[in-house]
Parts: sequence; C-alpha cells; structure tokens
Amino acid sequence: MTRVRKALVIGGGIAGPAAAMALQKAGIEPVLYEAHPQSADGAGVFLTLASNGVDALQTIGADRTALAAGFPTPVIALRSTTGKSLGETRTGLTPPDGTTSRTVKRADLYRALHEETASRGIRMEHGKRLVAVEETGDGVRAMFSDGTEAIGEVLIGADGVHSTVRTLIDPAAPAPVYSGLISLGGYTGDAAVDDAPGSYTMIFGKRAFFGFAIAPGGEVWWFANVPRSREPARGEVEAISGQEWQRRLVELFTEDAGPAVRLIQASAHQDIMKATAVHSVPHLPTWHTDRIVVIGDAAHAPTPTSGQGASLSIEDAVVVAKCLRDLPGPQALARFEALRRPRAERIVKQAARINSGKVAGPVGRLFRDAMLPLILKMVADSKQARQVYDHHIDWDDATRS
Ligand SMILES: Cc1cc2nc3c(=O)[nH]c(=O)nc-3n(C[C@H](O)[C@H](O)[C@H](O)COP(=O)(O)OP(=O)(O)OC[C@H]3O[C@@H](n4cnc5c(N)ncnc54)[C@H](O)[C@@H]3O)c2cc1C
Repeated sequence: MTRVRKALVIGGGIAGPAAAMALQKAGIEPVLYEAHPQSADGAGVFLTLASNGVDALQTIGADRTALAAGFPTPVIALRSTTGKSLGETRTGLTPPDGTTSRTVKRADLYRALHEETASRGIRMEHGKRLVAVEETGDGVRAMFSDGTEAIGEVLIGADGVHSTVRTLIDPAAPAPVYSGLISLGGYTGDAAVDDAPGSYTMIFGKRAFFGFAIAPGGEVWWFANVPRSREPARGEVEAISGQEWQRRLVELFTEDAGPAVRLIQASAHQDIMKATAVHSVPHLPTWHTDRIVVIGDAAHAPTPTSGQGASLSIEDAVVVAKCLRDLPGPQALARFEALRRPRAERIVKQAARINSGKVAGPVGRLFRDAMLPLILKMVADSKQARQVYDHHIDWDDATRS
C-alpha cells in the first residue's frame, strides 16, 4: 500500500497549523480549512505552553515565532482566600537545554502559527466549515457549508472541543462534558502590583478561582473561573458584556485577599474577553476510521486546569505526521491512536481531579487548603510530573505498526 501524499486538515486553531507544518516536514502536502472567515482567534484569553509543548514546537521549527509573543512562567504560586500561601506548582520542568514553559495570549499564538504556515507556502482557506465527509476507498471527499468540496487521501480533524469531525467518525461519540466552570479574563496596564514581571499567581477564592500573570512591560493578564452548576446554552455566556462581567466578578471576589477586585476594576470593558463554558472530552470509543482521524481537543480535551491542552495538541500534530510519513494511511491512523491515547487520557483524568478543587464548597475548601501543600510537594519532580513535562518526540525515530 502506498504512503499518503495529500492531507486535508480541518481547523486552523493550534493543532491544525502545527499538523500542517509537521506534514509538510514529513513530505506530505497539507491544505488547511478553517471555519472562521478571517482569523481563528477563539474564546479564551491566554494560555501556558508547557515545556513538552515547547519541545514539540521545536521539532517542527515553529517555536521561535510562536513563543516570541509570550514570556516564561515556569512557576505558579497558589494562594487561599485569606492570602495564605498554599505552595507552588510548575508549568514544566527545565530540561538541560533550559527550555521553560511560556504564557502567551491565545490570539497571538494563533496569529503566529498562521504566519508561520503561510511563510512555508502552506495553503489555508478561511470560511470553510466542514459539514460532511465521504470515504472513497483510497481517499476522502470533504464537503463545506458554502457548497464547495475538497479531495485528499486522509482528513485530519483538528476542529476543537466541539468537533464536527468527531461526530462524522462516530455519530454516537459522547458529547463533551461540562466542567461546571465558566472561564473568562482580561488585561490591564493600569493597576500597580508588587509582583515581579514573569510571576504567575492563582487564588482559590471563596466563591471563584482567580489567576494573574505579570507581562514584562508590567501589563497584568488575569483570568477567572466561575462555578456554575447548570450548563449554559451555546453562546449564552459569550453574550454577556464585559461591563456586566466586571460587575459580577467584583461581587464574587470581594471577600478574597489579593488584587483580584482591583485588577478587574482597572480593566477597560473592551479588555475583558468573552466568557466561555469549559468542557472536556475524557474518552472516545475511537479516534479514527481508515481515512479520517481527530487530533487535539477534538480527540481528548482536558480542562484548562491541566495547562496541557495546547501542548498535547502540538504533540499530536507531530506524531500523526510521523505516522503518516512511515506507514500507509489506515495503519498510520491506527498507530497514531495507539501511541497517543494513553498519555492524553491520563492527563485529561488528572486535570478533572484538580478541577474539582476549583468548585469546592466550604468543607471541601478546608480540606483542599490543608492538603494542597503536601500534594504539591509530592508531585513536584515526581515521576508523574516528569512523564508530562519531559515528553520528547524523536522525529528521526521510525514509527512501526
Ligand atoms: C479559557 C481557556 C483557557 C485555556 N488555557 C489553557 C492553558 O493554559 N494551557 C493549555 O495548554 N491549554 C489551555 N486551553 C486549552 C487550549 O486552548 C486548547 O487545548 C487548544 O486550543 C486546542 O487546540 P485545537 O487546535 O485542538 O483546538 P482549537 O484551538 O479550539 O481550534 C479548533 C479550530 O477549528 C475550527 N473549527 C471548528 N469547527 C470547524 C469546522 N466544522 N470546519 C472547519 N473549522 C472548524 C475552529 O474555528 C478553531 O479555529 C484553554 C482553553 C480555554 C477555553
């Protein structure tokens, strides 16, 4: 059986452009299709790329541009509602080459990845929302909502947590699980904080969770996770204005020690980004057919608590390209799932456990605040942490079926 020469990649978020670059490096022609008409700047304010994600970006030579917009944040300080220190957590381990995790605005990361793919001559078409796909024996035909079609030998679904490709592979695939949290955030250059540039603090508040990082120029990047038991309808929380969120958040954080209220009040309404309901995808019966596969959040979305969603997506992108380089299409996709599923699902599970600490009631809070310092001590530098952050993909190592 022959190797794949042309791949259709659906989704121009993080996994899609990374996969396109990795496929090109593997000698396969990629074409990217993104639903949004202009850019794929989605919901979510900023994210941490852990050291394993940075390492995967290095494999495809896309680390420099992608990371230039962000700054290193290797450690996160955790505090309780009273301001008491609960310990520190790492966003990665520092490997011998000194690569550390970085925090970067999501929109800047998207933009950088798009510029990088364009500079390599990779075709990306906007305004192409995939609605159907047909397997044709030796290839696939993709159909878009504007009535156009595209033909390739495989189709890679990098279309995020609410993936269409996932349901085209398996109409009975479980729906994403609502985490009980609404996430939003913003920016302000108008609030003085004592913390040094590069520092990152998270606060387990009485009624909601707050985090803030200080950018090198002094701008403060903040986010809030607000517990809400009823799952909102699609678009419901996105429709709430920045001004209304500002009012609600000030009320939610008013009893907590720390600068949350000050930072929220100092943010201009237009600098408070759209909120989003947080979902995860813990386990799918299958990730692929003979010619179609899902990668990134479409296959295994962890909650943002893990700080691993973007990094796992980039790892997937590199591995799926390697598999397609080394094996015929159907075997390649099966091998990809076998290689990636255990790691991805383990991390999604770990994130779900930590997530419950963010929605804890008064008793849970007491227990969490007592136990967290011990747990953090145990986890730091543990085998488990090393498996997550030290993960390295050897591009030159041949994939065997
Ligand atoms: C609030 C928030 C905070 C986060 N914080 C972190 C963090 O600190 N660290 C971290 O690693 N991760 C974080 N994440 C997760 C991270 O953003 C995701 O894991 C990552 O974006 C997944 O990349 P992806 O390419 O799989 O999906 P996405 O980035 O969601 O991209 C999917 C793309 O597919 C497009 N698309 C969707 N449907 C179709 C269709 N039918 N046809 C064509 N295109 C389509 C979308 O428009 C989008 O551009 C966070 C997520 C959120 C919501």
